Amino acid sequence: MTELNQQTTYDDNNIFAKMLDGDIPYHKVYEDDKTLAFMDIMPQAEGHVLVIPKQKAVDLADLEPEYAAAVLMTSKKVMQAQRQVFEREGVIQMQLNGSQAGQTVFHYHVHLIPSSIHELGGHAVTQADNNDLADIAQKLAAVIDA
Ligand code: 5GP
Repeated sequence: MTELNQQTTYDDNNIFAKMLDGDIPYHKVYEDDKTLAFMDIMPQAEGHVLVIPKQKAVDLADLEPEYAAAVLMTSKKVMQAQRQVFEREGVIQMQLNGSQAGQTVFHYHVHLIPSSIHELGGHAVTQADNNDLADIAQKLAAVIDA
């Protein structure tokens, strides 16, 4: 039998948990009582945003229905803001389950990437400029608030 190299228990010290605890800085795009959206620090295209639930879920298997719905609604807001700010229709919605799929942070998250599947950059490869991320986060947040 093949042994799966998978993380099944939630690690309270994962990087996104630390963000939710306020221990690590991030560029916020949107927040409500059940979700948080922020800029991916190693974007696969300009404007790459991550949406996470405020629930301890490793991956899709753990996600409670009310948080699943909340993540989807926040993803919708972010995608609409990306369309407006980047003046493009195409936005990739991606989500990885398990290290075998390439998941690297084990707190459930949805990637929203203003790109095409044919132009997508490498996954978690190149760190973006901090000022650029702050600028984009502010533009997206302004559109969501409007
Ligand atoms: P996964 O591989 O789990 O689907 O995606 C994890 C994502 O988190 C990657 O796209 C990676 O660039 C991003 N990431 C990793 N560390 C940090 C960090 O410290 N801050 C932010 N904002 N994103 C991170």
